[in-house]
Amino acid sequence: MLPLVYHPIYSQLELPAEHRYPISKYRRLYQYLIDEMKLDQQDGILFYQPEAIGADELKSLHHPDYIEALFNNTLPAAKMRRIGFPWSHQLIKRTLMSTAGTRLTVDLASQHGIGIHLSGGYHHAHHDFGSGFCLVNDLAFAAKYALTLDNIDKVMIVDCDVHQGDGTATLLSDDDSIITFSVHCDKNFPARKPASDIDLALPKHTTTNDYLETFEIILNLALAQHQPDFIIYDAGVDIHQHDELGYFDVCLDGIYRRDHLVLSRCKQAEIPIAAVVGGGYRQDHQQLVELHAQLIQAAITVYRSE
Ligand SMILES: [Zn+2]
Repeated sequence: MLPLVYHPIYSQLELPAEHRYPISKYRRLYQYLIDEMKLDQQDGILFYQPEAIGADELKSLHHPDYIEALFNNTLPAAKMRRIGFPWSHQLIKRTLMSTAGTRLTVDLASQHGIGIHLSGGYHHAHHDFGSGFCLVNDLAFAAKYALTLDNIDKVMIVDCDVHQGDGTATLLSDDDSIITFSVHCDKNFPARKPASDIDLALPKHTTTNDYLETFEIILNLALAQHQPDFIIYDAGVDIHQHDELGYFDVCLDGIYRRDHLVLSRCKQAEIPIAAVVGGGYRQDHQQLVELHAQLIQAAITVYRSE
């Protein structure tokens, strides 16, 4: 069984016409899975809808003043600009739902071995400020939640978005039970890259084969050294060669092979994995959705026998 977590609110956000964030991609991905990939219950696919978390639940992870200001629209203009979205009630509702969605995906993965969230990956959100389209760090929130579940004492966040997971790194720097592992482009946003537990920084124009060879070696070492009993995986597709905000030369099949590698390692080692779709910014939203669909395709292949 393959649980997928989705809510229509993910794409329900009014943005200025020229805004670069591909807000429709969540709805398009959901539609693609049903209309193009024809996924239904017979394939073992079950869709789940989260229920929004309360703002107070975020105050142990983020600074309470930041959460208050964010939710009351009293953040200074410069801080909103750093986030990159105009403030709206819908933005806040969507943020609470996305964070709930990643937490629900952790619950489902802990029960079924695998869960995929058709949103999530807001890794640039720090303790007292947001940045790069990220308001609340759902990865750190869900990792801390995972530690409250039975038989989970060590969580690893494997962040394969092309941008370094700076917010996750700072939020979890003093938590020995959560290992942060970021694979990213060395010359890309964010300019300042605070240390994760493991950082694999690759140069611009890294090719598919170089990416996969290097990543596989470091992933195997990381799993052997830390032996996590739960993994949260950010399957960002902005590593693609045509992504407007990424500088790698990784092809469509390379994304499939990366996702397949991570999922099959987890299945072999019987480590439950909660995956989120993460970043991806191609202007052609249909092609962008095809990139994100590789994660679900890889999961169907790896977990088919379940
Ligand atoms: Zn990214």
